[in-house]
Amino acid sequence: MKDVNPNNMTASEILRSFTNTIDIGCWSAGDIHTGAGEAIALVNPSDGMEILSYADADKAVIDRVMTNAARAQRDWMAMTASDRGRVMWRIGALVRDNLAALARIETLIAGKTAADATVEVTKVAEMFEYYAGWCDKIHGDVIPLPTSHLNYTLREPHGVAVQITPWNAPIFTAGWQIAPAICAGNAAVLKPSELTPMSSLGLGALCEAAGAPKGLVGIIAGQGHTAGQYALEHPDAAIAVFVGSADVGRRIAETAARRVMPTILELGGKSANIVFDDADLDKAAQGARAAIFAGAGQSCVAGSRLLVHTGVKEALVERLKGVCADIRVGPATGEDTQMGPIQNEKQWSKIRSMIAEAKAEGATVACGGAPPDGLGQGFFFQPTILDDVTEAMVVAREEIFGPVLSVLTFDTEDEAVRIANATPYALAGAVWTRDVARAHRMAASVRAGTFWVNSYKAISVMTPFGGSGMSGYGRSSGVEALQSYTRAKSVWVETAS
Ligand code: NAD
Repeated sequence: MKDVNPNNMTASEILRSFTNTIDIGCWSAGDIHTGAGEAIALVNPSDGMEILSYADADKAVIDRVMTNAARAQRDWMAMTASDRGRVMWRIGALVRDNLAALARIETLIAGKTAADATVEVTKVAEMFEYYAGWCDKIHGDVIPLPTSHLNYTLREPHGVAVQITPWNAPIFTAGWQIAPAICAGNAAVLKPSELTPMSSLGLGALCEAAGAPKGLVGIIAGQGHTAGQYALEHPDAAIAVFVGSADVGRRIAETAARRVMPTILELGGKSANIVFDDADLDKAAQGARAAIFAGAGQSCVAGSRLLVHTGVKEALVERLKGVCADIRVGPATGEDTQMGPIQNEKQWSKIRSMIAEAKAEGATVACGGAPPDGLGQGFFFQPTILDDVTEAMVVAREEIFGPVLSVLTFDTEDEAVRIANATPYALAGAVWTRDVARAHRMAASVRAGTFWVNSYKAISVMTPFGGSGMSGYGRSSGVEALQSYTRAKSVWVETAS
């Protein structure tokens, strides 16, 4: 794809350059295997038009993908750790070589602006490069027992990891899970959202082009309750990894529990972005903008609750209104677009109904609150600020997953912590203050897997990411992911004569 301009190609044409076919199906062992299930439509969120439809994966196809993965996993572990690292590095290089093509798919199918898509694909390359370096550094310990035994541990892969992911950052999430899984010696069978399978299919093909054993990275194109469940229930599934909503996460955990299968869950959030009266308000306003409006708010870590000290609430909301008015909403392909569409119609409707409910409960719309005029049939929504939100309102408790900020106030540090922690989620949070001692107190007190001080949304594959409570459990980045994706074996050797 180096010599062609993907911006002149359709998503299907770009995909064909990776998989040699325009058909959408499951990628495994060098081929696309089309399913025989119900038709699934792919829609361009920027104009609401159907791009194509494909058949849901059926059990026979899933069986082939899983069996190929189990065989490839043994071949992968038969390679030296250093060679596995070299393959992973080459995957990163191929992702960089194909950056424009993969980013273009995200723009056309997921509704990502070109700038956001470019950042996300670049981060995928970084994920493989980071874990390339870990392949030959995964090892056990020698335990100094008080007996004549030599006791040592091995860190073993689970086998085939079944990974189910959502539509909001398709290739980013695919890389986020595939890279640590295969680094630890597993095969990865990933089922992206049925609404956004194309970029993951491209990534799966690049893994093989880089030299991964055929089938090691399988991609399933299909629905969750059919294809996803078949994969989880397949005898070769050894670990279940789920990124998505809390409701579905609970179901995945139940399925995994029936098989007593280890599970990683990365679920939703209702993260608090807390602004004290000593904060730099201009920076806090810019930070709040990035926290909620980047990616049109379709982010698990979105700072969807702005908790602001009563003394600076009016001043901050005024600044934010200015920030909102400046955001250019438009088609993801638009050169000057800063905020693209909502990825799908169902989510778009959910945002509108949650705003209507908030208004009925007494919230006021400080800006936005509706789809913008003049943008045709795409699933666009204005950056929205809901003021006068109280803790009891649904928008203060439930994830919206759209560009909607709920503003709540507090008077004391204790009250800020109490409100921040008053949700069942615990994924992320942030504080804006010039008081360094207070910043550390807040970092210690707010329930969250990731916490930022005078910043928001910085993210890196090098550091652990995940939540607790209804935001899930387990970590799938940083060195911690390698713990989740392996298990310890203890070996005892009698050394007495
Ligand atoms: P979703 O839970 O509806 O779907 C996620 C995935 O699960 C999709 O691939 C879907 O096909 C599959 N699925 C649905 N029902 C299933 C079933 N019964 N069995 C097996 N698989 C099934 O979520 P979504 O609407 O695609 O994405 C939005 C959600 O994802 C939000 O809640 C968001 O916060 C969350 N999310 C979390 C993170 C994180 O890292 N914590 C990251 C991104 C998104």
